[in-house]
Amino acid sequence: MSNQNDVDKATLDASDIRDSVISQELRDSFMKAYAKSQQGELEDQLGDNVMILCENLVKIYKTKETEVLALQGLELKVERGEFVAIIGSSGSGKSTFLNMIGGLDRPSAGKLYVDGKDLFKMTESQLVDYKKNTVGFVWQNNARNLFPYLTALQNVELPIRFGDNKDVEKRALDLLNLVGMAHKKDSKLNQMSGGEQQRIAIAIALANQPKLLLADEPTGSVDQRTSDALLDVFRKLNTELGITIVIVTHDINLAKKVKRVVMMRDGKTSSERIIKQEYADPSLLKGFVEEETHDEFAILDRAGRVQIPREMLDAIGVKGNRIRLVLEDDKIIVSNGEDNGEEEEPSGKQEKFRRKNKA
Ligand code: ADP
Ligand code: MG
Repeated sequence: MSNQNDVDKATLDASDIRDSVISQELRDSFMKAYAKSQQGELEDQLGDNVMILCENLVKIYKTKETEVLALQGLELKVERGEFVAIIGSSGSGKSTFLNMIGGLDRPSAGKLYVDGKDLFKMTESQLVDYKKNTVGFVWQNNARNLFPYLTALQNVELPIRFGDNKDVEKRALDLLNLVGMAHKKDSKLNQMSGGEQQRIAIAIALANQPKLLLADEPTGSVDQRTSDALLDVFRKLNTELGITIVIVTHDINLAKKVKRVVMMRDGKTSSERIIKQEYADPSLLKGFVEEETHDEFAILDRAGRVQIPREMLDAIGVKGNRIRLVLEDDKIIVSNGEDNGEEEEPSGKQEKFRRKNKA
């Protein structure tokens, strides 16, 4: 029966998303919101293109008995229009970080600017406004975003009513269309698959044209094909509406398909991978080998500290806590500090560096 086919298509196939047309009104509403955003008070200091800037960000959770250092001096800069995936093992601080950016929780120390605003200086009412108009949030557990006994359309209409949009139903339908769910507008949420509910959750997050969309493990409870389809939704929002997107995931397959991947470890950003230009087209990403497609970077913090992946240290036989640094031309070479073999011939730059530091 064709009806059943439609259901399967909505759940599993992403082509309807790629092909769905974004209405001019919807496009305009986002462009208008973005034009306003250029007036952020800190824009001049930060540069027009910065969406998120955090420096030495610290978050301490205090309970009666313990203190948990959930973020330990995190550094990250995300430009407007970027699509970033954050990965890291459980407990590394990913959700904590996303909650800080989303204004759901307050950081303890450091600096955090989003969309030209200083999140440390926001009053409660500014924070409410920020959560309503600047960021949209999608959780893994969509029970947090959705009302199970309302229809898809009613769910999406709710947050639109709180914003300053006039034609509520039209906009809700536009958003449902954008996420490929217009044909399910009258279905109750509890009659939908996990992937479909996530699409509705994305539509809700977009209700008031956020500039930044945050998603915490959005594909955490769906299968691989559904996860791919959801990624297509995010990609479309990013490329066609210019929404900056940060998703937290431990779905390695998903992370492989995102251009910039930031790794977190112990409450810090530890390294980064940027997809190589020749793989930036998603259609080229089918069946690739990870190592060939991403360049790997380590994060340098304010104090000049770098975290080197254990596998790399093991590969050069580092066992203790000493490594040797040699400056050579425009490279710094890291080698095993316990090797007391013949000292290598110093290069010109290294020699200059030594002389300068002796003086
Ligand atoms: P992730 O999302 O990467 O799994 P989280 O950000 O949830 O990590 O947690 C980072 C650390 O902070 C963990 O040690 C966690 O137990 C702790 N933590 C998170 N939220 C709270 C909280 N509300 N109160 C106390 N500790 C917390
Ligand atoms: Mg988490």
